[in-house]
Amino acid sequence: AITDALPQGTVELEFEGALRPTDLAEFVGQTRVVNQLTLLLKAAEISQRTPDHILFAGPPGLGKTTLAMIVAKESGRALRLSSGPAISHAGDLAALLSSLVPGEVLFIDEIHRMAKSAEEMLYLAMEDYRVDIMVGKGVGATSIPLELPPFTLVGATTRTGLLANPLRDRFGFTGHLEFYSNEELTTVLSRSAALLGLDLPEQALDEIAGRSRGTPRIANRLLRRVRDYLIVNPQTDSLSAVNAALALYDVDARGLDRLDRAVLAALLDRFNGGPVGLSSLAVSIGEDAETLEAVVEPFLIREGFMIRSPRGRMATAAAWDHLGRAPMKTQAT
Ligand code: ATP
Repeated sequence: AITDALPQGTVELEFEGALRPTDLAEFVGQTRVVNQLTLLLKAAEISQRTPDHILFAGPPGLGKTTLAMIVAKESGRALRLSSGPAISHAGDLAALLSSLVPGEVLFIDEIHRMAKSAEEMLYLAMEDYRVDIMVGKGVGATSIPLELPPFTLVGATTRTGLLANPLRDRFGFTGHLEFYSNEELTTVLSRSAALLGLDLPEQALDEIAGRSRGTPRIANRLLRRVRDYLIVNPQTDSLSAVNAALALYDVDARGLDRLDRAVLAALLDRFNGGPVGLSSLAVSIGEDAETLEAVVEPFLIREGFMIRSPRGRMATAAAWDHLGRAPMKTQAT
């Protein structure tokens, strides 16, 4: 997964695992995707087929991995987890595919980052449950077909546009995950708080929800920081603890983190609000363009701080206002 607001260590990952919903009934929000998925799984069950290949698309932390785990659990199948960057050549994929048990769900996170040669092998595997293994080099090279057990591929990507068309077309269903509403995040948080044994009033949960960038992973992380704050300062009332903890971790009143604000500040201060190209903007803050496009922009656009125009990225009046700046007048010529 791509980085977001706070550092990710082993403890954070364990914490994330513990709070992960394990079935569709516990999964909050994403009603459209959940309904589509339910139908697909039900039909596969009735007709006793392996469910179709599934692609989940959306910014990090919205629940793609969680949904893949739920697909396996709800359909009573084994699950294998892998990721695009771990598949650096076709051989890696051949090894993975040939070791699957019949009907297994194979989850490939960041599937757009898989090696090109592996991607081509995957087309055939998805369609015919077969791979061609190349042996030898030059004129003596031959391909040996290898039959695979039927499997369901679940791919995750931050944007479907990052996938080659032939790969995208081979998924029977694409679920587009949306940012969560504050009410949904409050529901996620109250479940998490209960699991952590934290007793926080609705108002405190609302406050955390409003500052979580529409993202359950961030909501859960902020909740953990609030818990830390309350462990160290047990006398503090919970709303003050929320505000103090979030201020300490640079999350502002609209939920923008340091990277979000750095992007907006660069857009305003260096490019006078744009329009500016993605790569110039990325270079100006020393971030890579993919992170900017997949992690930062979707949220800034949704919150109305930025727009994508054919000429480039542009700041809105809300951005100038939020950062407390006024646009520089351009000289009349
Ligand atoms: P990435 O692509 O960055 O791995 P992701 O989209 O796969 O992100 P997950 O790892 O599935 O995100 O979710 C992150 C955490 O957020 C989970 O551990 C889980 O606790 C929580 N979460 C995600 N979606 C939901 C949801 N709908 N309801 C409750 N909790 C959720």
